[in-house]
Amino acid sequence: MNNWEQYVRKVTPYVPGEQPNSTNMIKLNTNENPYPPSPKVLEALSGFEADRLRLYPDPTASELVQALADYHGVNPENVFVGVGSDDVLAMSFLTFFNSDKPILFPDITYSFYDVWAELFRIPYQRPELNADFSMQLSDYYQENGGIVFPNPNAPTGLLESISAIEDILAHNKEVIVIVDEAYIDFGGATALPLLQQYENLMVVRTFSKSRSLAGMRIGYAIGNAKLIQYLNDAKYSFNSYTMNQTSLALGMASVLDQEYFEKTCAQIIETREWTKQELASLGFTFPDSKANFIFASHPDNPARDLFAALRKEHIYVRYFDKPRIDNYLRITIGTKEEMQILIDFFKDYMK
Ligand SMILES: *Cc1c(COP(=O)(O)O)cnc(C)c1O
Repeated sequence: MNNWEQYVRKVTPYVPGEQPNSTNMIKLNTNENPYPPSPKVLEALSGFEADRLRLYPDPTASELVQALADYHGVNPENVFVGVGSDDVLAMSFLTFFNSDKPILFPDITYSFYDVWAELFRIPYQRPELNADFSMQLSDYYQENGGIVFPNPNAPTGLLESISAIEDILAHNKEVIVIVDEAYIDFGGATALPLLQQYENLMVVRTFSKSRSLAGMRIGYAIGNAKLIQYLNDAKYSFNSYTMNQTSLALGMASVLDQEYFEKTCAQIIETREWTKQELASLGFTFPDSKANFIFASHPDNPARDLFAALRKEHIYVRYFDKPRIDNYLRITIGTKEEMQILIDFFKDYMK
């Protein structure tokens, strides 16, 4: 090793799902939305004046923050926006997880959490999920430096009840509890009402899945004003202009089109339920997903083989070569037509 290398902040990075550059593929590997963004977003995009790009964006993102505050019935002081929820979560880890005690998140969960913990040198523990992938609530009663988990969980799709979340909050009033609601719009009950009672709760959302805007990079957090202020302090100490002009304009347009949002979410839920039935009749087992993906396993066909066979046909799903989940495929819900092709492939493969 060179001398200077000993001072490098070394990290093992997060590995995102493949983004193959191909047109004739079925892409069910990164939980993107199969439908285009709202027509209002497309209008805002074509009406966007390129000359505005000369100017710095509004560092407070006030219009988008106001639109989100109105949407959720909170005050602008309760909303923080960032470059995708990954940015919001990373900033939150940096800001709130500053204890010598370990933060807690499940052993099977969004695989960015341990990467941020490593990057920021935050000690962490990963309590094991139960065999059915539910959270063992008593694991979260121990002393800790903060808690974070997605609800529904990724990559399992399993939703925890509001009473389960409240139980975790009731046992952890001394630390920040982050609920990552990346997939909540696909039929889950949000933890947002608990903000009334728990000032240490922060809820994180994204435009990437339910709003079809993964390419735009927009995420946000909702929490009490003091907590949001701390987040903003960290942000302004890092990069004041996280949100670019186009993200602000297009994000606004998306929030204002409630009808389209509800319609596309309902379509995905319907296709998910259809896909569950088809997979079950092929012998797959899976937790009852409330997300836009299904985490499926087959008793006779190893997930690794299925993954490779699908890939040959340009059907991309996600496979994690990790303990406890290496016989599962995470399959994003695409259009009904895409799911039909997937099911037809399985039928043919298992003949
Ligand atoms: C997709 C995802 C994110 C990140 O979403 P972006 O807003 O695109 O950065 C965060 N958390 C979970 C659990 C996710 O699945």
